[in-house]
Amino acid sequence: MRKNEKTLTPKLIKKLWLAFVLIIVLMGASYIVITAYLANKYNEETTQRINANVATHVINEKFQNESPFLEDGSVNKALFGDLMHDMMAVNRSIEVYLLDNSGTILYSVVLDHSKNTPSKSVDTAPIDYFIKTKGQKYVLGDDPRNTGEQNIFSVAPFTIQGREGFIYIILAGKDFQAVSDNLFGQYFMKLGFGATLLTMFFAALIALLSIWFLTKNLLLITKTVRSFREGDLDARIENPDDSDIAIFANSFNEMADTIVDNMDKMKSVDLLRRELIANVSHDLRTPLAILKGYVETLQMKNETLSEQDKKEYLQITHDNIDKLSKLINQLFEYSKLEAEQVTPIKEPFSITELSHDLIAKFRVLADKKNISLQLNNPEDNCLVFADVSLVERALQNLIENALKYTEDDGTVTLSLLKKGKNIEINISDTGTGIPVSELPYIFDRYKQVDKSTKKQGYGLGLAIVKKIMDLHDTTITVFSKPKEGSSFIFNLPAYQVS
Ligand code: ADP
Repeated sequence: MRKNEKTLTPKLIKKLWLAFVLIIVLMGASYIVITAYLANKYNEETTQRINANVATHVINEKFQNESPFLEDGSVNKALFGDLMHDMMAVNRSIEVYLLDNSGTILYSVVLDHSKNTPSKSVDTAPIDYFIKTKGQKYVLGDDPRNTGEQNIFSVAPFTIQGREGFIYIILAGKDFQAVSDNLFGQYFMKLGFGATLLTMFFAALIALLSIWFLTKNLLLITKTVRSFREGDLDARIENPDDSDIAIFANSFNEMADTIVDNMDKMKSVDLLRRELIANVSHDLRTPLAILKGYVETLQMKNETLSEQDKKEYLQITHDNIDKLSKLINQLFEYSKLEAEQVTPIKEPFSITELSHDLIAKFRVLADKKNISLQLNNPEDNCLVFADVSLVERALQNLIENALKYTEDDGTVTLSLLKKGKNIEINISDTGTGIPVSELPYIFDRYKQVDKSTKKQGYGLGLAIVKKIMDLHDTTITVFSKPKEGSSFIFNLPAYQVS
């Protein structure tokens, strides 16, 4: 692997390892603490259950023939001395207490009296619980030798010579605790250390495997991303679905497609914009130059020109002003549509009525060329749901074109046909037609099929129509044969009167 082909940076690897070691150490520590706590509890519970009856045994054994109290009411120390003897022989770790009913310590048998001043009483609540559950439930009682601490115990009540009390035995006395703590410490240090090491080993193995898997897959993706970045726009991850990180691979491929698409779109938009600016400046310049020429002639030769010439020159000036204002209006309209500043206000309206109005409006122009302008509307009244002024604008442009590109004595027909939930609108002419090779481009702004016909228009009319169709989520189709004529067809949703 070359150095620059590494997929994970040393910084990231360092971070990963650091996080990994930290987690393992935390895991190890938690493991030790939990295990120690549970094992200690387990040990205490077992000891308590096994020795649950120790206190009862002491009472049965020692108090059968002798009372724990002397006749004067004081504690029978001799009896407890005897008990101490037995304890020394059997179990040095336990501590025996003689309690009265309220938990006050009357006497204690503890081998090591050197440490701490024992407390004077113990809480009776754990004692009651112990007796109630017959010592089968884990419970801690006050440890008189370590005030404030609690320990496992065994307890049994007695009633002798009218006196009631308890024999309360702390099962894990000081010595036991020290030895047990020490053992626990050693044992669990070993256990914890061993467990941590083992966990670390296996976790390292898992981490290495995962990093290897990830790197293997990432390497392929990194290589492709790098090629793409360096300009190879065709670079894609091959068979992305076979990769272990298919979602990532597919996302990259989709992202690359989108970037390339957008770049293409931006390039073509940029190209069209430049073309538009070049053409607009040309188209503005020509009528302006003509205007300037005629106005100057009128100014200079005003005296010598005949009335007829003057009339003609003024007419030419007028026509060119018309052309200029038409172009400027179209540009304004188109740029507003392109900048998406126009929001269609859709409402139901009669497309039949609108068509009648338009036919009437263009009648004069048609008559001038002796063109038969007809409306073909088999239904009585077709209603559509659309923006009336935008649809009017589109129809106007289409009829204008049809009349413009149709020779004298031709026919232009506007047909309205109900088709399912739509009204199909068709503007057909018997004009010059459009060459097949040019058909795909006629809706592109500023494209003119035949540059020689440029004097007739500016190539913005159909681009505006296309934008209006887009705003109505519909499309316009064109059928055309050179020398035979053209048809422009689009659909608008019919409005159903309920
Ligand atoms: P223009 O203002 O030049 O007419 P349009 O955008 O309206 O611009 O039309 C673009 C081009 O499509 C026209 O220049 C013309 O070559 C062609 N075209 C449009 N309508 C027709 C038609 N009915 N018959 C023949 N050619 C047409």
